[in-house]
Amino acid sequence: MKFINTRNPNQSATFREAVLRGVAPAGGLWMPEALPVFEDWDSLLQLRWVERSEIILRRFIGDEFDQDAFAAAIHSALDFPIPLTQVRRGLYALELFHGPTLAFKDVGARFFAHILDLIREPGTPLTILTATSGDTGAAVAQAFWQRPAVRVVVLYPKDRVSELQERQFATLGDNITALAVEGSFDDCQALVKACFNDADLSARHGLTSANSINVARLLPQMLYYAEAVAQLHKQDVRDGIVIAVPSGNFGNLCAGLMAKQTGLPLRALVAATNANTTVPHYLDSGEYLPQTSIATISNAMDVGAPNNWERIQYLFEGDIHSLRQALRWGFKNDADTKRSIRELMGMGYLADPHAAVAYAVLEERLGLCETGVFLGTAHPAKFLPVYVPMGIQVPIPDALEALRKRPLLSKEIPNEIAAVRQALENC
Ligand SMILES: *Cc1c(COP(=O)(O)O)cnc(C)c1O
Repeated sequence: MKFINTRNPNQSATFREAVLRGVAPAGGLWMPEALPVFEDWDSLLQLRWVERSEIILRRFIGDEFDQDAFAAAIHSALDFPIPLTQVRRGLYALELFHGPTLAFKDVGARFFAHILDLIREPGTPLTILTATSGDTGAAVAQAFWQRPAVRVVVLYPKDRVSELQERQFATLGDNITALAVEGSFDDCQALVKACFNDADLSARHGLTSANSINVARLLPQMLYYAEAVAQLHKQDVRDGIVIAVPSGNFGNLCAGLMAKQTGLPLRALVAATNANTTVPHYLDSGEYLPQTSIATISNAMDVGAPNNWERIQYLFEGDIHSLRQALRWGFKNDADTKRSIRELMGMGYLADPHAAVAYAVLEERLGLCETGVFLGTAHPAKFLPVYVPMGIQVPIPDALEALRKRPLLSKEIPNEIAAVRQALENC
């Protein structure tokens, strides 16, 4: 399948080229040329998670790879469970946080790391440069940690990610460098973009993006929407499935919309944001007005200028009317989010703040005879500063507990391209 530049439909790339370039020319993003519609969803949905995932990915990009190596990469990248937990009648959480860094970004990051092994030029320098609002850095750093001939540089907004999130990427060392930027996540993203736009710097270090702008992160995220539907079908729930997606950069939602366009039987997706309301405001008013980001307790969604929105616009050819038909939407502030966490606890379910936002918007948008699923994008233990003041005890998984004892290895830098350039030369 060919991949097309969202800013210039005349420019196309193979999957391999799109992954290595990260950003498309003129600051565009790579998207599959035309999404295939699968006529065999009924039988696909009866397959097991990894087998189904392999078949779907093969239809998109399989022709570029040796078949056995491709299968092996997918099987080791997607080797953790994606349970669908019933919260109450007609309401489920799809738990995407059972991978190594306890967040859904493990799905994209692990696939990216494994597939990159198959597509990179041996013997050339390779540096993964990525901006994170928390979970991306953790997932990417862990996915590449101690892999040969690749290094990872993570930029993150100083004091705006949770302590445990920071420890997941800033205590690793070896081939992982963490830079704490004096600025917001949007500033970090702008710095990363500026580095990629510097052709000389980019070539010298073999800069590659692992952000949700990389198409290798995007594609595998389609797969768990199918898994949610498959698990519901097993319970004889077939109609009126609505999935709510806690959104920041909108890569996750974009992947869900792509899955829906391939014919996956979903009635609607719900775009849920926190106080960063650029997208809900657009869907309400038709005006797209990027904002500076606002800090909230669901901090992985603190994005005022979501990168992947351009992909969703491309997918719907900029037609807000068809977008409004595929989507429902809403936003919740921190007080609503805390109320939802307590409400879910009352049903015996402990949700992380991002999942709680999705749940709260879903509750408002779900019809009477529909079945709702909200995506559990992270384990609640990653956000202790939210729960401690609420008097809620969160069990800490062993993997996180061990990190607390490790020293932080990050470097603080000002919000300046020169500082990033210097760090790239020195690490
Ligand atoms: C990254 C992240 C999100 C937002 O996902 P996008 O694809 O950027 O919209 C939501 N929840 C958690 C826990 C995350 O880490």
